[in-house]
Amino acid sequence: MRGLLLIFSFLSIVFSKDITSGGKLSKNQLGVDVRHYDIRLKVDPKRKIISGHVNIKIKIIDEVRFIELDLLNQYFISKVMIDSVTTPFKHRDNTIFIKPQNLEINSTILVTVEYKGKPPIAENPPWDGGFTWSKSKDGYPWIGVSCQSNGSHLWYPSKEHPSDEPESAELHITVPKPLSVASNGNLQNVKEHKNKWTTWHWSTKYSINPYNINFTVGHFELIERIVPSLGKPLRVQFYVLKENLEGAQKLLDQVEIFVDFFTRNFGQFPWIEEKLGLVNTPYFGMEHQTMIAYGNDYKKNEKGYDFLLFHEMAHEWWGNYLSVSDWSDFWIHEGFAVYCEALYIEEKYGYEEYNSFLTKNISKKIPLSKPIVLERNSTMSQVFGLDPYYKGAFVLHMLRYLVGDESFFKILKDVLHSKKHLPNNQITTSDFIDIVHNEIGTNIDWFFKVYLYENQYPVINQKTTHGSNHTFVELSWENSDFSMPVEVFYKSNIGFTKKKLVITSEPIMIAIPQYNKIRIDPDKRILLTIDKKQ
Ligand SMILES: [Zn+2]
Repeated sequence: MRGLLLIFSFLSIVFSKDITSGGKLSKNQLGVDVRHYDIRLKVDPKRKIISGHVNIKIKIIDEVRFIELDLLNQYFISKVMIDSVTTPFKHRDNTIFIKPQNLEINSTILVTVEYKGKPPIAENPPWDGGFTWSKSKDGYPWIGVSCQSNGSHLWYPSKEHPSDEPESAELHITVPKPLSVASNGNLQNVKEHKNKWTTWHWSTKYSINPYNINFTVGHFELIERIVPSLGKPLRVQFYVLKENLEGAQKLLDQVEIFVDFFTRNFGQFPWIEEKLGLVNTPYFGMEHQTMIAYGNDYKKNEKGYDFLLFHEMAHEWWGNYLSVSDWSDFWIHEGFAVYCEALYIEEKYGYEEYNSFLTKNISKKIPLSKPIVLERNSTMSQVFGLDPYYKGAFVLHMLRYLVGDESFFKILKDVLHSKKHLPNNQITTSDFIDIVHNEIGTNIDWFFKVYLYENQYPVINQKTTHGSNHTFVELSWENSDFSMPVEVFYKSNIGFTKKKLVITSEPIMIAIPQYNKIRIDPDKRILLTIDKKQ
């Protein structure tokens, strides 16, 4: 039994490491642009099988030898067609290689992949993804899908990469009655079949990241509310299990408060023409665009709000509307979403609480296990960890301290709304740095180099000597070119003094009353290491 367990957990580790989102695109994949996914699947809760086909509209943008799509090997592909013509293909290494007759650059083709199989079971959703075949308390199937870490090819044939967002997507998901399907965009119709199955047709007209295309199946009730969003009506839909009905309205009260906060600070809800969706999921949560996965059981934190709801809603602006095209920039999704919570606390409870959230809750959780920006073409399994979340948020906190509030909030607006060179409002870390430099008019690469690309905090050297009347403290940054200003706190003859000092790698000396102690960065605004040299 023990041996079996070991083998089992070993397999699951292999699975989660090997099957991951992002990475380096092949030449064939770089040569195509996915415009639209139309996913038509029957989900059989009894046999735990999915079957059907996916139509993918693809624009050919460069010379390609094969159309290359990602789909796990464990699915059986019965047919592949290009523009309705059956086409030869090979399915190996979790990739479908489709040999087209001839492809013209700038032409658009429709690739159809017919397949079926048992999707992987999620070991630890949403982090280790797959299908969660659960049951609600009333005995009905309750099915969740999570694939941010492992990639969309875990359940549908796709060009699995954050860079290629289709311009729109639709899902036709067929389930046994009386189950419902909650998904992205607007519900078009529910078609009843004679055999007691129904097809739920959802459609989004917005560009969407492949991992955000998602559905949840359950015996749901639908609760709706219209919420004001900068003078426009925003439709909020909550697909909620009967067992969770109580408390659902209160969650929507919080949605209303958060919509007000986000729209005032970051502009209109990005998918105002569709909806803000919430669905009970048999896992913690995920920011699925226009249908947030919610599994936090209405838990409130010590400040009285639902942190998960807040975090996933933050992603509608930071992560879904603004998104990255390479997982090496993942901190832009998570760091900004976590920092939004600090801003919410500041607005609601004041600056002291904001500061204490960042110093007590955030900086202490930074594992410092890797730089938050890794090399280009990173996979999700390479970048994932708590650093992009907590260090990412703290970098924004320090940037604000460095450039001042006025510039900082202008930068946030620009990052979110300025025109990007990448499609679909996608951004890179270097675009972000350019926006900062443009706004402040000076180069602070020294700041980004240390905090984004290195895995150690900068070191401040402190050398103390005692003279006949004074104690002298010499301060310098160990890191060359680094010039983060630092606050110091000490007692002098006029009482307690707090000073902001510009420190560089050249030592500066301050004199304080003899045998007094100096405190460096008393409010813990900066991630640093102090090296005391006596
Ligand atoms: Zn997140």
